[in-house]
Amino acid sequence: MPLNLKHLLLFVLLFVSACAPRASVAVAPVVAGPVAAAAGFARFHLGGLEVTVLRDGGFVTPNDGGDFGSQVGPAAVGRLLRAAGAPSDRISLSVDALLVRMPGHLVLLDTGLGPADHGVLPWSLALAGVTPDQITDVLITHDHTDHVGGLVTADGKPAFPSAVIHISAREWPGMQKDVSTKAIAAAVATQVKPFDPGQPLLPGVTAIPLYGHTTGHVGYEIAAAGQTLEDIGDTAHSSIVNLAEPAWRGGMDEDPAAGAATRTHELARLAAAHELIFSPHFPWPGVGRLEAKGDGYMWKPGPSG
Ligand SMILES: [Zn+2]
Repeated sequence: MPLNLKHLLLFVLLFVSACAPRASVAVAPVVAGPVAAAAGFARFHLGGLEVTVLRDGGFVTPNDGGDFGSQVGPAAVGRLLRAAGAPSDRISLSVDALLVRMPGHLVLLDTGLGPADHGVLPWSLALAGVTPDQITDVLITHDHTDHVGGLVTADGKPAFPSAVIHISAREWPGMQKDVSTKAIAAAVATQVKPFDPGQPLLPGVTAIPLYGHTTGHVGYEIAAAGQTLEDIGDTAHSSIVNLAEPAWRGGMDEDPAAGAATRTHELARLAAAHELIFSPHFPWPGVGRLEAKGDGYMWKPGPSG
């Protein structure tokens, strides 16, 4: 069949498109930082307690040998990510918080990114049927802004005006000095009650010292009717990288060596006890258990089991 004008035009178009620079179809570069999420909540029971996970947002960091696997490099981290079916050029994290209803107390564990970084925790709280002034206690794992940002409203006022804010006595001085948190600390200072870990803070709630991510970083163990749940805070960030290789260091920890040592020790303890875990940065809703795999662990999501 002779080549008519229509065929010729089609051929030219195909040729031009085949010769187009590759940049036009390249994968978008990683944009690091907080990312927005839709509000939501997930609810389950621990003993007789009602436990609710509150969605707040997300966070993306590039796989560049900084935040993860700083002593092994991005190629080794990328292999773990690819094996788990995740993109190998970035590590994507959730940002979530926990709400526990117990007799006489309505307890919020961490407060998310806050209004400065588009945290949606207030909307998730509303969907869960709770108003901010009903919160009696806020337990802070550490002073990074993805955990304390939500202590204030968009106009800088206390977001939980009726609550006692519990924070490790090793963490509070730094939160008052750090440029990223000192305005938040000043806004809520009269509500803050610093504590030394180890003593029960509320009935069945004990702070566990897990230093390394920050100077005074703690987790919280909640016990009810023979069942336990530990909010591990930022003891681990990636359910892929940190669980497969707990001893790998990363720049997310203020003291990377101490952070890796604490992670290695605490994850071993939690796996051996088959203890239920909440991790603010694991895939939504961040509740599950550890199962041994090789030198590390696999994440088994879900509150049962
Ligand atoms: Zn964090």
